[in-house]
Amino acid sequence: MLIGGLDIGGTKMAAIVAGPQGPLARAMQPTVKTGTSRALPEQAIALLDEACRKAGVERTMLKRVGVSSAGPFVTIGGEVALVNPNLCGGLEATSDLPNDWVSIPLEHVLRQEFGDIVVRNDCIAALIAERSFGAVRDVKDCVYVTWSTGIGFGLCVDGHVLNGKHGNAGHAGHMLLSENSQALCGCGNRGDVEALISGRNIERLRGRAAADIFSAARRGDADSLKIATEAAQWFGKALYNLTATLDTSVFVIGGSVWQHHGEWMMPTVVKEIASRMPALTADVILLNAALGGLVADIGGLCLVMPEEWKDPWRRSSPWANLA
Ligand SMILES: [Zn+2]
Repeated sequence: MLIGGLDIGGTKMAAIVAGPQGPLARAMQPTVKTGTSRALPEQAIALLDEACRKAGVERTMLKRVGVSSAGPFVTIGGEVALVNPNLCGGLEATSDLPNDWVSIPLEHVLRQEFGDIVVRNDCIAALIAERSFGAVRDVKDCVYVTWSTGIGFGLCVDGHVLNGKHGNAGHAGHMLLSENSQALCGCGNRGDVEALISGRNIERLRGRAAADIFSAARRGDADSLKIATEAAQWFGKALYNLTATLDTSVFVIGGSVWQHHGEWMMPTVVKEIASRMPALTADVILLNAALGGLVADIGGLCLVMPEEWKDPWRRSSPWANLA
């Protein structure tokens, strides 16, 4: 038996095909944003075809497909559809996207090709991947966090990964933090954590690429250091809020901002958590995500992987061949 994994993001899409011994092949393309709203799931099917061709297998051998996708989701006729503002041009009058989609029938179209499909938000899939093969193997109370162009979370409490009524649990990037801030999020909120510190919104507010600001801060540029320190403080406050809400043990953190700058921002973030409510925060630890750029692909596979594959994969880390 073979399984497929899809990673659907706002800028790129990847497909991966795997067997009991590990991943066989991977294919990647920029995410399509033109045509009808079926164009995106149809691209996903074509990309799985391409991965199968690379692996030298027939697509009919794929018995299950796991999908890790950018959210948020709505449920239409019992099936997951995407309503992501970076993909759907019909959600806002001011959108500059080349389409008028108000939702994308992701599960509906995939289900016509594959009987056994599981769709999860990308941070939930990443959490499952890190709990299966990464930094928080079998940890019962943990949170996956990405600090990147956006901010997102995957939540696990008492060993249960939280999904929510439409699969949107963990969209805590849209928790409100600052009543006074003019920082605007793509969701319409002012002063939510994503508005304040995501790579895209820092650039929108400051008129400079976030990567440049964080790099200049690390070199000691005073203005940039002030912006970056404030961002680390807001990030720490968001993690404190989740600590207080979930009584979590571990935050496992990924995403491009954290990958490049987490090490020097770590003390500021830890201070924001540890300076409050010792009874809640004393044992909380922060870890770097272990699976890097493959976390979403592996997350997709984890959604449909037979349990007996996991031990051999843990011993041999077969995804390393693809990195
Ligand atoms: Zn928001």
